[in-house]
Amino acid sequence: MEEIKDRIDIVQLISQYLPLKRAGRNFKALCPFHTEKTPSFTVSPEKQFFHCFGCGASGDIFQFLMRMENVTFPEALERLAEQAGVEIPRGRGEDSGEERNRLYHLHREAADYFHEVLISSSGKKAREVAMSRGLDSSAIEAFRLGYAPDSWDRLREVLKSKGFTTAEMLSVGLLGEREGGGEPYVKFRHRLMIPIWDSRGRVVAFGGRALEPEQEPKYLNSPEHLLFKKGDILYPYHVARKAVRDMGYVLLVEGYMDAITCHLHGFSNAIAALGTALTPSQARKVVRLSKEVVLAYDGDEAGRKAALRAASVFFQVGVVPRVVLLPSGEDPDSLLRSRGREAFASLISGAGDVVLWYMAELETRYSLSHPRERARWLKEVLGFLAPLRGSLDLESYLVEVASKTGVTLEGLKMEIYGRGKGRARSASHAPRGSWEVLYLALALSNPRWWKIFKGEVLEDPLVLSLWEKVKGEDDPSIALAMLDDSERSLLVGKVMEIPEEGVEELFASCHRRAERRALEREARRLKMSMEGVSGEEKGRLLARYIEIMKSIKGAGEEGVYETH
Ligand SMILES: [Zn+2]
Repeated sequence: MEEIKDRIDIVQLISQYLPLKRAGRNFKALCPFHTEKTPSFTVSPEKQFFHCFGCGASGDIFQFLMRMENVTFPEALERLAEQAGVEIPRGRGEDSGEERNRLYHLHREAADYFHEVLISSSGKKAREVAMSRGLDSSAIEAFRLGYAPDSWDRLREVLKSKGFTTAEMLSVGLLGEREGGGEPYVKFRHRLMIPIWDSRGRVVAFGGRALEPEQEPKYLNSPEHLLFKKGDILYPYHVARKAVRDMGYVLLVEGYMDAITCHLHGFSNAIAALGTALTPSQARKVVRLSKEVVLAYDGDEAGRKAALRAASVFFQVGVVPRVVLLPSGEDPDSLLRSRGREAFASLISGAGDVVLWYMAELETRYSLSHPRERARWLKEVLGFLAPLRGSLDLESYLVEVASKTGVTLEGLKMEIYGRGKGRARSASHAPRGSWEVLYLALALSNPRWWKIFKGEVLEDPLVLSLWEKVKGEDDPSIALAMLDDSERSLLVGKVMEIPEEGVEELFASCHRRAERRALEREARRLKMSMEGVSGEEKGRLLARYIEIMKSIKGAGEEGVYETH
């Protein structure tokens, strides 16, 4: 990875996408990731970072390509390696390890088996049920649907004959342990099987839909395992990705059946979060495809609440989604099958801004002409808007709130930002005191520094929590990719504020401080262990202690570089 970074210059890479203008030692452009009139998107050839002082987008060449091309880290790595003419050792990046590869293979074989059974004569009943749900033979092919036969051991034997172990099948939840021992049994029986893909189109789990009305549970899904983290999956991401580009927005639905039905009716930009509340990681993946997001959740109270929760997760990543109001009791799957494509399309084109919808909805519960109810309304609306802090959208909603309630705009801002602060402040500009932030940020900018970085001396809780996420990564680019956007932005923003000529010296100074702290800790430890011993052992410890105290003196005083 170091080699790729050596060969591909960040200025050259970014200028393939944007016109960069020189500004001192840096380059500037209008930010491609948010709308702006004056350029705050900055690229530093010395630091090999980009950073937007407006929206906080930041990182290295890998991060730039990931955002610009909506690709994952391994894909960005692959493309840049190709550009640089560098061979990547197989299994590098997220999918190292024989174990993972075998589990991918196992899922592929299981999916093939289920699919073969579905299209064979023993899949007749399952095909009929599928058909009644609008899933014809082309849908069965497109989504590789399958049928798990009503057998307690067939799948186990099939996979065994392909060389997989019972332990492997147990680990991914295809088998279950029998009480009192004996051969583990097959968990998916007599179900329509939906293979769940990861963002690169590999099968990592299954959803099994009941075929009989009395069969429980209605949906049986794979448990989480090495390859399958529910909160990361969006189904079917790799298919929808292309369509989003053409259609210009993401259609987010609740379940995989909704997603499939949407695709079959031409809404190939539909993706579903699986079964759980939307996570920030999923929201970021969605937003990478498009900032235009339409939520089409179930038309009942639970669906409404889920949509509001999802909206607030999108607020955290700076996006205000629109929301489709489905008639009560309908979901996209049932609506498309009963009323067809046109009806659904017209609902989508009428999708409203989620904030305005929520405000209007609250007005049906609280009367704005009544002072106490108005206060309740205000409290709920401001609570809902709070995650939008720092975004431009917030301002325009507050104007709306002000006009509805008669509270001044300034007063509303005070409520949202807290007293005494009053102004929007993006995370990247928030002052952070300790030198440790700078130390970590600088180490991430240079593989050489990353290797000698002394994470074990960190004490600042914020820096420690960041270090927890990245320690153990041997390349700073991978480390950067492990952080949230806002965390990366904070660190890269720090580095970008340092004048080019001071960078080397600043890192050296931070590193000296870290070494000194490590020595001080060892000195304290030695002092303590000397108390319990005597004789030769004590003499040895004392000699070591004196040596350390000398090097601490030699290391000079702390705080050569004071950081605000
Ligand atoms: Zn920006």
